[in-house]
Amino acid sequence: MARIIGGIGTSHTPTIGFALDANKQQDPAWAPIFAAYEPLKAWLVEKQPDVVFTIYNDHVTSFFFDHYSAFALGVGEQHVVADEGGGARGLPPMRGHPKLAQHIAEHLVADEFDMSYFQRRGLDHGAFSPLSLLFDHKNGWPTTLVPLAVGVLQNPVPTARRCWKLGQALRRAIESYPENLGIVIIATGGLSHQVHGGRAGFNDPAWDAQFLDLLVDDPETLARMSQAELAMRGGWESSEVIMWLIMRGALAARPEVVSRNYYLPSMTGIATLLLENRAGNSDLKPVDLLDPSTLALPASQPFTIDVSVANYDLNRFLQQMVEPEHRAAFLRDENAVLADSGLAQRDQSLIRERNWTGLIERGAIFFGLEKLAAVLGQPNAIIYAGMRGETLDQFQSSRNAPNALYSVRGFSRGNKD
Ligand code: FE
Repeated sequence: MARIIGGIGTSHTPTIGFALDANKQQDPAWAPIFAAYEPLKAWLVEKQPDVVFTIYNDHVTSFFFDHYSAFALGVGEQHVVADEGGGARGLPPMRGHPKLAQHIAEHLVADEFDMSYFQRRGLDHGAFSPLSLLFDHKNGWPTTLVPLAVGVLQNPVPTARRCWKLGQALRRAIESYPENLGIVIIATGGLSHQVHGGRAGFNDPAWDAQFLDLLVDDPETLARMSQAELAMRGGWESSEVIMWLIMRGALAARPEVVSRNYYLPSMTGIATLLLENRAGNSDLKPVDLLDPSTLALPASQPFTIDVSVANYDLNRFLQQMVEPEHRAAFLRDENAVLADSGLAQRDQSLIRERNWTGLIERGAIFFGLEKLAAVLGQPNAIIYAGMRGETLDQFQSSRNAPNALYSVRGFSRGNKD
């Protein structure tokens, strides 16, 4: 079974990544930060975790307010460093762990935490600033990553209690994973800081020390605090420390404090905390999952995370039919667009042949197919008939209103039909 080796709490300020890239290890302003990470680095080298489950927040880099999620789980095969405006840092991509991510997602949803899922989005300094200090990575990362992005920028944000409970659910999820994996939970953010308004530059080292005490010994007290209380004590942006409660919730009642450090050079109280889970796995009962055989209905292909990850490019190609230029180019010269698409030959052929059954079996989602049909000026029923191995007439005669045909194509913008 998988086991949680321990948890790390760390600041994610971009300055620490910057200091690393600029080789500021000997600079008196930065040296204390590097010194604080040394014991954590050494511990990670000793423990060699198979996976780091990293809780961070994006800073309107890869997630924006057109769709903002509370809890977004990274399910992809790899995670790259995001460009935050001045070019991306020269860090290698980190391998993901889609299989573990899918297991965690299934268990969290069964535990009533409805997650959102992302892939192919760069991770910003929220994740990679601390990761780059925690691991040597010149020759590639020595571990894999499952990231969890928490939406802490746009209010209302999840409560501290919700995060604490999510951590407990995460523990049940991880400890029920059948493979023998060692996993470290890394939480990022804070401590005290405020970066906007007249209170910009606010810090409270005494509160930061108390926060760390409470996190170790009495996390329930922190879990009872409102966002306003956390913001009042630590500065508005410091309320992102709710992410540390997810990590703490995933650990044993009494973890061992292996390392604890605090340094306040400028805007943010930079803390590092390493908690080791020496008690081993809990006897928590995993949640009851839906019997997977109930998803195995005849002639049905449920769209699951593994299908989504494996067929991202195919589904993206179909989804891009919502873009006028993409569909115009497709209609103008389908073969050229397909040849340029980077899709596997098999996917290209399935699209060329309008092989709806083949596309579904391959892992296309139906709602991409209906976009393709709309572009081709075909009704949805063409797809339904094709998937059932019938002619359009045969399929339509099975409907209560055989003359009702429709597609998702708009009628008002110059379409002839
Ligand atoms: Fe932040």
